[in-house]
Amino acid sequence: MHIRNLEHKKEWLVLLSLGLICVLIWLRVLTPGAPVLEAVVLDVGQGDSIFIRSPSGRTMLIDGGGYSGRQGEESIGLKIIEPYLRRQGVNRIDVVVLTHPHDDHVQGLVRVVRDFQIGLVLDPAIPHPSNEYHDFLETVMKRRIPYVRAVRGQTLDFGDGMIAHVLNPPEPRLSGSEDDVNNNSIVLRIAYGNKALLFAGDAEVTAEDDILASGEVVRADFLKVGHHGSRDATSELWLRAVRPRWVAISVGRNNLFGHPSEEVTGRLKSHGIKVYRTDMHGAVNVKINSRTIEVSACRGT
Ligand SMILES: [Zn+2]
Repeated sequence: MHIRNLEHKKEWLVLLSLGLICVLIWLRVLTPGAPVLEAVVLDVGQGDSIFIRSPSGRTMLIDGGGYSGRQGEESIGLKIIEPYLRRQGVNRIDVVVLTHPHDDHVQGLVRVVRDFQIGLVLDPAIPHPSNEYHDFLETVMKRRIPYVRAVRGQTLDFGDGMIAHVLNPPEPRLSGSEDDVNNNSIVLRIAYGNKALLFAGDAEVTAEDDILASGEVVRADFLKVGHHGSRDATSELWLRAVRPRWVAISVGRNNLFGHPSEEVTGRLKSHGIKVYRTDMHGAVNVKINSRTIEVSACRGT
């Protein structure tokens, strides 16, 4: 009996604490908080796709991932990006950024520029012979979507405190590097309040050095590391200048490229940086309310 009473007490305590949690959640939902900028590094396997919502609700999509890797399977655009955007209630994307025309970045965007209202496309306009890039450009042209060739020094002001700065590619374009398509990737620094996010596309060390030499501000709290954590990006110098607290590596499970390299993960570790990997942790979520920044992952760490 005594034990039973105790059991009852326990039940009540559990119910009470559950109730309290519900009330707290409701208060959180109902209390209009400070405007929030949200960035989500989606889990698109081997490739990149990042969705950003500005504090006033304007939207940006950086890259659209590539093929799922299995023959006969639908593209990442159809399988992951579109359903995600629909679930978020997104019909219009104000800015679509194609960092560079490789398949693992452009392929999923072909459907997005066909199926959504798009305000603007930002592209480094590096000539590339792939069918996917051709289809992307053709759709942008057919739908008369405003198209801007990216150049270092451009800024996109969202009118609500969020400002995106184009740090790369320079004019003239980088040439004679290990991979000129990667090195002319759009590198975007997004600032809000005193916080900043840096999205490095597939930029390699040549681009990192060129950005540092240009004197552009690179410091950021969060970095989407360049080229899926490949050893040809994310140099010691770059990390010392950016000084991120958190990074995301967008990478496919058991990918054929050996990404991310142990060299880069070791370097990140030696700087005491918290590393999220989409292959291990799923989508990575970043929230900024101008003073604070929170980073979390779908599958925790
Ligand atoms: Zn890539």
